[in-house]
Amino acid sequence: MTASDPTGTPSSGAAESSPNIDGGDVAGESAVATARRQLGRAAAHVDVDRGVVERLKHPTKLQQVSVPLRRDDGTLDVFTGYRAQHDDVRGPYKGGIRYHPDVDAEECIGLSMWMTWKCAVMDLPFGGGKGGIAVDPKMLSEDETERLTRRFAEEIRDVVGPKRDVPAPDMGTGPREMAWFMDAYSMQQGETTPGVVTGKPTVIGGSYGREEAPGRSVAIVTRAAIDHYDRDLEDATIAVQGFGSVGANAARLLDEWGADVVAVSDVDGAIYDPAGLDTANVEGHDERPGMVSGYDAPESMSNAALLELDVDVLIPSAVGNVVTAENVDDVRADMIVEGANGPTSFAADAILEERDVPVIPDILANAGGVTVSYFEWLQDINRRQWSLERVHEELEAEMLKAWNAVRAEYEGSEMTWRDAAIAVALSRIGDAKEMRGLWP
Ligand code: NAD
Repeated sequence: MTASDPTGTPSSGAAESSPNIDGGDVAGESAVATARRQLGRAAAHVDVDRGVVERLKHPTKLQQVSVPLRRDDGTLDVFTGYRAQHDDVRGPYKGGIRYHPDVDAEECIGLSMWMTWKCAVMDLPFGGGKGGIAVDPKMLSEDETERLTRRFAEEIRDVVGPKRDVPAPDMGTGPREMAWFMDAYSMQQGETTPGVVTGKPTVIGGSYGREEAPGRSVAIVTRAAIDHYDRDLEDATIAVQGFGSVGANAARLLDEWGADVVAVSDVDGAIYDPAGLDTANVEGHDERPGMVSGYDAPESMSNAALLELDVDVLIPSAVGNVVTAENVDDVRADMIVEGANGPTSFAADAILEERDVPVIPDILANAGGVTVSYFEWLQDINRRQWSLERVHEELEAEMLKAWNAVRAEYEGSEMTWRDAAIAVALSRIGDAKEMRGLWP
């Protein structure tokens, strides 16, 4: 399939939310349409060739494959898999593999575009990719998941590889799937190739600190943003929606650094203590389901109420599209730091901009995940594992470098933080395209 189908259609119009697609906020609008609108906004602020912007509206390549699966009962089902490769001017494509019933071409392309900006804003030598299978992983046994993953690896083997396209876990996949993918790829290559995917278990080339990296980067960026607005972290009140991998790691670190994390939540509800929760003692949903809402806190509330708390910083870290045109007027936080991908809808973004509420975007705040994936890739290529301390130190340095680049773009400009982050990415990508030129 090429860029002209089914995704080459120009984006269009109007209002409302599409909750299953991270970042989309217009009725029926796909992730790719939202990503294109964000690109258009940021491009208006950057001195970049219009032809480059046009190229970036389309993926370089979209692979669609059929993935046959022999079920445990002997019957056969066929699932559809995708790998979207958006742009590789700065290096191999990089991005997750998602197992979810809503996975489709447009979603993969939109998410691959965000990965291009995320890698460029972090100045990593990668471009954006994203893929997945339209399947509900909860309906598969472990053996079926393994067979499906191995067959998918085989179907997209020609377009991936450590120097070509490096997948990672995403919604519905984790280290276990990455281990099977790496093994299937390696068996066919005839050599162990750990660098083909990141997010692997540490015994087969995974990096220490990968799991906690997105939450850690959210905490580092939140601290820098609080400092930027001349506030003191120790006086700051913070509400975190979603106490999972991203949210719990961010909340615990900010708590450790002296902030008052007054509210956290899981899918069942939120807990609130105006004096600050002891987040180290609140167990996450994965650690023990139901423990967040079951924790003995002074007050419990709904997830919707958490979003409306009068706090210094709101960190939505659960799912996409939770701050929307419908509830944004009730959001009282002085600042939003996006832990999840796409928690603020396009319409809500515009209203927050009018109200001068800074929104520190996902492509910067949670980019610790792909950054430590880059460290993992380096470790795999060099066959040398880094210590956790080294991962933490290098992640901190990379996050502050990216934060300073985005802040320099933002300060004195008319841009939002999101525009500024995409603008930083876009100028780096534009420069690379200009240097390489267009062949033939
Ligand atoms: P997770 O499954 O570990 O945690 C999600 C948390 O959100 C859980 O506490 C869950 O109970 C809660 N939750 C789920 N649905 C909810 C809902 N409708 N309302 C309120 N809470 C709900 O997931 P995660 O890995 O922490 O990812 C969270 C977000 O961060 C996602 O948007 C993901 O795309 C993004 N992200 C994750 C990573 C990563 O590597 N884990 C990296 C970058 C971005």
